[in-house]
Amino acid sequence: MVESWKTKRKGYWLYKEGKVKVDVETQKRIYFKVLSENEHSVIFDKIKNQFACDCEYFSLKLKDCSHIYAVKLFLKGG
Ligand SMILES: [Zn+2]
Repeated sequence: MVESWKTKRKGYWLYKEGKVKVDVETQKRIYFKVLSENEHSVIFDKIKNQFACDCEYFSLKLKDCSHIYAVKLFLKGG
């Protein structure tokens, strides 16, 4: 639970510091770049309403990583 809280907090700061950029938007998907320690690609699938990220955290846990939290905040506008 603590880890999840830290992940959310990190996502919040990535959003706050303007690290989220829209890369490409298509009819089905939006591709984001998130400039964390490394640059990560987050994909939002509009049809499935699902997020995916290329980072290790997401690929191992299949849970929302800090990059996905940042993108969610970006889409909500805070
Ligand atoms: Zn990620």
